[in-house]
Amino acid sequence: MTTETTPAAVEVHDVHKWYGTHRVLDGVNLTVRPGEVTVILGPSGSGKSTLLRVVNHLEKPEIGHVSINGEPIGVRRHGGRLRELSERTILTQRSRIGFVFQNFNLFPHLTVLDNVAAAPVATRKLTRAAAQELARELLGRVGLADKAGAYPRQLSGGQQQRVAIARALALRPGVILFDEPTSALDPELVGEVLAVIKDLATSGTTLVIVTHEIGFAREVADRVVFIDEGKIVEQGPPSEVLDTPQHERTRDFLSKVL
Ligand code: ADP
Ligand code: MG
Repeated sequence: MTTETTPAAVEVHDVHKWYGTHRVLDGVNLTVRPGEVTVILGPSGSGKSTLLRVVNHLEKPEIGHVSINGEPIGVRRHGGRLRELSERTILTQRSRIGFVFQNFNLFPHLTVLDNVAAAPVATRKLTRAAAQELARELLGRVGLADKAGAYPRQLSGGQQQRVAIARALALRPGVILFDEPTSALDPELVGEVLAVIKDLATSGTTLVIVTHEIGFAREVADRVVFIDEGKIVEQGPPSEVLDTPQHERTRDFLSKVL
C-alpha cells in the first residue's frame, strides 16, 4: 500500500531547460505516485518531449532535478549540493526507466525476441537464456508470442510498437514513459496499442504518457497534466481537467483536439 511516506515514483523539482535563449521548460514541478497513470497534454512545441527526456536524463536541466523513487537522477547530494554522477551510473539509473518512442526505435537487424531480450543481457541482469524466457513471456503479454522469430520490418506499426512496449517492460522499470506512442500509426492500428497500455495501467504499472488521445486519457489517467509554453497550466483528475478546465488555454487546446 502506498502512503505519503513512500517516495514518489517520479518527482520533478523546479526544472528549467533552455536551448540557447529559448526557454523550453519554465519551472516544472510534477509528482507521480507509484502505480499512478499520468497523461500529459499540450500543444506541439510546448515542451512535452523535453520533459520526458529530462525525466530520463537524456537532457540535463539547467536548473532543478528529477528523482526516481526518491533517488536524484544524474546527480547526487554532496554536502547540500548536487554533483554530476558518472555516465555509467546514469546508464544504470536510466535502465530503471522504460521509454517508448513515437517511432518504435526497434533494432532492425535483431529478431523480435532479441529486441526484447537484448537490454537485460547487456545490463547483465539476466543470462541470455533467462532473458529469452522473459522475452517470450512479455511477447505473450502484448499478444505477439507467434512473432518471436520475425524481424521488425515484417511487422505492422502497431505490432512494432507492442514489441517496443515488451522491450521497455523487460528491464522491470519502476516507471514507463510514453512519447506519443500511437501518433505514427495508421488509425486502425491505434486501438491495439492503447489496449496494451491500458492493460499495464490497470495492473498497477506507473506510467507517464504524452498523447493526444483524449478518450484514452479519460479512461486510464489518474491525473491529466496540461502543459503550455514550458509551464504546467493545470492538472487534476480527468473529469476536472477535461470536462471543466479552469484555464482559457486548456479550453482552447481541448476544443482543437476533441
Ligand atoms: P513537444 O514535445 O511538446 O512538441 P518539445 O519538447 O519537442 O515539444 O520541444 C519544445 C521546444 O523546444 C520546441 O520549440 C522545439 O523546437 C525546441 N527544441 C526541442 N529540442 C531541441 C533541441 N535539441 N535544440 C533546440 N531546440 C529544441
Ligand atoms: Mg513531442
